[in-house]
This record gives sequence, C-alpha cells and structure tokens, in this order.
Amino acid sequence: MTPPPAPTMAAVHGGRRRHVLLFPLPSQGHINPMFRLAGLLHARGFTITIFHTQFNAPDPARHPDYRFVPVPDGSPVPVAMKDAVAQIIELGVACEAGFRDRLASVLEEYSRDAVACLVADTHLLPIFEVAARLSVPTLALRTGSAACCACFLAYPMLFDKGYLPVQESQRDMPVLELPPYRVRDLPVIGEDASGRVSELISRAMTAVKTSSGLILDTFDVLERRELEGLRRDLAVPVFDIGPLHKLSPAVYSSLLLPDRSCLEWLDAFPPESVLYVSFGSVACMSLRDLVETAWGIAGSGVPFLWVVRPGMVSGSAYHHQQQLPEGFEAATHGRGMVVTWAPQEEVLGHRAVGGFWTHGGWNSTAESICEGLPMLCRPYFGDQMGNARYVEHVWRVGLEVGGDLERGSVEAAIRRFMTGEDGAEMRTRAGELKKAAAECTGEGGSSCLAIDKLITHMMSL
Ligand code: UDP
Repeated sequence: MTPPPAPTMAAVHGGRRRHVLLFPLPSQGHINPMFRLAGLLHARGFTITIFHTQFNAPDPARHPDYRFVPVPDGSPVPVAMKDAVAQIIELGVACEAGFRDRLASVLEEYSRDAVACLVADTHLLPIFEVAARLSVPTLALRTGSAACCACFLAYPMLFDKGYLPVQESQRDMPVLELPPYRVRDLPVIGEDASGRVSELISRAMTAVKTSSGLILDTFDVLERRELEGLRRDLAVPVFDIGPLHKLSPAVYSSLLLPDRSCLEWLDAFPPESVLYVSFGSVACMSLRDLVETAWGIAGSGVPFLWVVRPGMVSGSAYHHQQQLPEGFEAATHGRGMVVTWAPQEEVLGHRAVGGFWTHGGWNSTAESICEGLPMLCRPYFGDQMGNARYVEHVWRVGLEVGGDLERGSVEAAIRRFMTGEDGAEMRTRAGELKKAAAECTGEGGSSCLAIDKLITHMMSL
C-alpha cells in the first residue's frame, strides 16, 4: 500500500498566517540577523518574502526558496560614516512610496489571511507606518543587545539628567540608572550637533512601541537583567531568540566575497594560537591607527588573520596592500594573513583561533561568545562602546583597548591577551558562556521556548 502523502504545511496549520514578510536595513550587521531569522522561520514552514532596497541588494540566486521584492530607494546612497545617520533616516523615507505600492500588490496576490506579519528593522520607521496603514501587523527586529535597546529607551532621560551630550570631563562618570555603563559607553555617533542621532534613536523606539512585539538577537543567560528591564518598560512582548546564527540553518548573506583560503591557512597552526582581527563592515580607522595596529601586531610575534576591508581607512578606498605599512608583510611573513573579507563564523569556530580583536559590533560579539573566544575590543561608535563595557566588566571575557593606539601598547595588549594568564582566565569564562549559550539554543532552552512563543504570537496577530 502506498503511504498517504505527507500533509503540507498549509494543511498542518490550516493555511492561515504562514507567510512572513521581512524588510532588513541594508548594512551587513543588520542583514545577517534578518536573514538568519528568515532561515529560522522558513525551517519552521513559513513562506518568506523579503523586501529590500536597491542599495546593498541581496542576491536572490543564493536564496531560491524566498521571494524578493526590490523597493526603489533613490540610490546612490552616500557611504561616508559622518553621513550614516542621515543616510539611514533618509533611506526609510525614500522607500516609503515604493514600499506602499509593492506591499499592496503582495497583499492583493496572497489573501490577507495568509500573511502573518511584517518583520522590519527598527531603523525603518516609515516601513512600519506603511504596514500599519495597510493593516499588516508588524514585529520590530533590533539587531543590537538588550542593554543597547534599554539605552535607546532611556535616551530622553540621559539628556534630562545631563549625561548627554557627552562632556569630556564626565566621560568616566557612571550612569547610575543604567549600570554598568559610564558616560563614555553610551551609544553615540560623533557630536550630534544637528540632533540626528537623537532623532534616529527616537524613531527606532517609536517603531518598537507601535509594533506588535520586539525581537532581539540575544539570549537569557547573557542579558537576563536587561531583558527583565525591557519587559517592565515596554508594553509590547519581547522575544529573546538569539543567538540567531546558532539557531538558523547556515545562510549566506555576505555583501563582500569571503576569502575562504584563510580557513586552510589556519589549519597549519596549533590550537588557540591565532589572533583574528576584524573591525566589522562599517567602522573606519585613521591611517595612523592602522599603522600603529600593524606594527603592534607585528611586534607581538603572535600569528594573526586580519581583515582589512577596502575603504576601512578613513578617506581611502585603496586596496589593503596599499594601506598597510611598507615592510609589514616581510616582518610577519609565515605567521600572518591579510584578507579583504573573511568567512567570520567559520574562522571564529576554527580550532587554531584563540582570540578576537574586534570593534565590538553586536553580531561579532555574540559570534565570538558562542565560540568561547575572548575578545580585545576597540570600539568606534554607536553600540560598540557599550558592548565592550559588557565584554570586559559584566561577562569578563575580554579587554578594551582604549586611548590612542601606540604600537608598544598594542603589542603588550596582544601578548597579555593571547599568551598571558589574564587571557587564559578570559578564555575559560568564554568557554563557560559558550556552554550556557548552547543550553539556551538546545531543546527546551530559553531561546527555543521564545521562538515557539514568537511563532504562536505571529499566528495570532
Ligand atoms: N563579517 C564577516 N566577515 C568579515 C567581517 C565581518 O562575515 O570579514 C560578518 C560578521 O560575522 C558579522 C557581520 O559581518 O555577522 C558584522 O556585524 P557586526 O554587528 O559585528 O558589525 P558591523 O559591521 O555592523 O559594525
């Protein structure tokens, strides 16, 4: 007898609410968590439609199971860091009309009842507003930590109490309402004379408060206190479903082509001997800092894999070989590799890698913790200072490299971190966090339970 055909997902769930629409902010640190969420929901039987800007558009060929809907965004978009805040605000506004038309067509094509909701990045407020006008429920994805979200919520208070704008003389003052932050750890970008950063943050929090729920790529053991605070202060449900990269099937959402040859290169080194250095997809350093970093790495004698992105040095779009100081390659021959982009998750999981020098972006921080790797943090802007504070002071799995970069101090920090006792202790604690993270993502773990709750919630909207 032939077995009966397996029931389709639609039959299992009555055919309702099985279609999720997503709209990521188009930068690497925001695209990755959104695509990881898409992968997770797809694996749970949801149909996925991704709306996206033309700027940094994803390659649909890499995700044959998803539908992609391009939205005109008025590209080209300026990429200079000082314009990034204005760029984000303007991008959402520029997409508004095009998104309204495209969302309306998608809703016409599928019955409204089939669409569960739209999940959008909190930095795209106009997208939330369009969805609300077309009666599509929204969920807000924040791609930073719960602690950073709490800071965003507290932003007006931080001005009222005089913590912001940051005054040089108060940088080391504790922010009593948000321990363990000091004023220097608060999420800021430049001096914000025009008030654009405050506007960006306020818009993001409006998106959260007017949505049907907040999704965070964090997990209970890492940020229990901060999550409790958010649940107290927000009227919408909060779903801590991270670390998403461990819960989603591997997804390829890289904007730059990773150089996979570095994995083979790493194979030749002993366990935990190599320092991985990467400052993420956006942070820029001065040429002076690059030169001091290079000579510090060279002087440490530690094997390293370094990501030097094109354009990573302020005001330059040169190829990395032109950026690195003359003689660096010869001085580090045989123990160093420089690439323009790495398959980071795999690098962090490689047994030869023993530490991560990072700018402290939230994805990098979570990816490092999940591999039990200690971090040297050199934060640049936004939430990176706060993440570094947590790494050093709360989880105690790393050190911040602060102040002016000098080759001597860089060299000493790397040695202490990679070969000293402090480094070994941080590595032990990082290993414990790795285990705790794996429990959260394992069967019956907090993140798995939160995913179940999220899906029930989505189906009920
Ligand atoms: N990344 C990567 N290869 C690299 C550098 C970074 O794949 O060479 C990925 C990394 O794994 C992370 C993302 O890019 O998922 C960067 O996000 P993060 O929040 O750490 O920093 P941002 O780029 O947003 O500052």
